[in-house]
Amino acid sequence: MKRFALLLACLTALPVWAKPAIHWAYEGQGSPEHWGELGDEFQICKKGQYQSPIDINQVIDGKLPPLGMNFHTDTQTIVNNGHTVQVTVKDSDDFRLDNDVFVLKQFHFHAPSENHLFGKAFPLEAHFVHANKKGELAVLAVMFEVGAENSALKPLLAALPSEVDRVEVMKQRMDLAALFPTVKHYYRFSGSLTTPPCTEGVRWLILKQPVTLSAAQLAKFEHALKHANNRPLQPLNGRIIVE
Ligand SMILES: [Zn+2]
Repeated sequence: MKRFALLLACLTALPVWAKPAIHWAYEGQGSPEHWGELGDEFQICKKGQYQSPIDINQVIDGKLPPLGMNFHTDTQTIVNNGHTVQVTVKDSDDFRLDNDVFVLKQFHFHAPSENHLFGKAFPLEAHFVHANKKGELAVLAVMFEVGAENSALKPLLAALPSEVDRVEVMKQRMDLAALFPTVKHYYRFSGSLTTPPCTEGVRWLILKQPVTLSAAQLAKFEHALKHANNRPLQPLNGRIIVE
């Protein structure tokens, strides 16, 4: 009877369509080389041909103009979800690409960097995840080098929750403009989400010029993440990278 009551409690707590989340990780059994086998919905991680991250190596000069961005972003919440440190935004910045508008949804961090520039990894990479009205994704990536302290990261690191999965409201407004380099030239290619389900068709724009953060700020990120959260490099499979 007790067991039945428990089952009933579980059934009422979960909508019928909800499936338990598949556990994935950066280490051990759920590590990147196994992502494609963890569940049917993760198959693209293994079978996909246009996966991210990649090493930006051979680049075609497409004379792409620098990115024009509108910054009017208001941050909402911050969480360390065990995979990354992620900030969700309410008011959002946007940029135009392919005659469309892409609006910022969230941004998060990987340490060390996932993408490489000409064989070089960076200690930190930020991903600014944007979507258009159709729900198509464009990710702007910014590389960080250790150097001068980054003022834009101060409110973020101050609000960083100490416990995994605890969502904190960010009270201080963040000036996102300071997280981007002044010159916004970029490399562009087609790729995927770098985490399961590794969905493809993501427009990737990697800003050429890195920004800086201090060694102490980097240490705070690394401490919060507890482990490296970068997916290994994926094969290019004939894709073209344009600048
Ligand atoms: Zn990412």
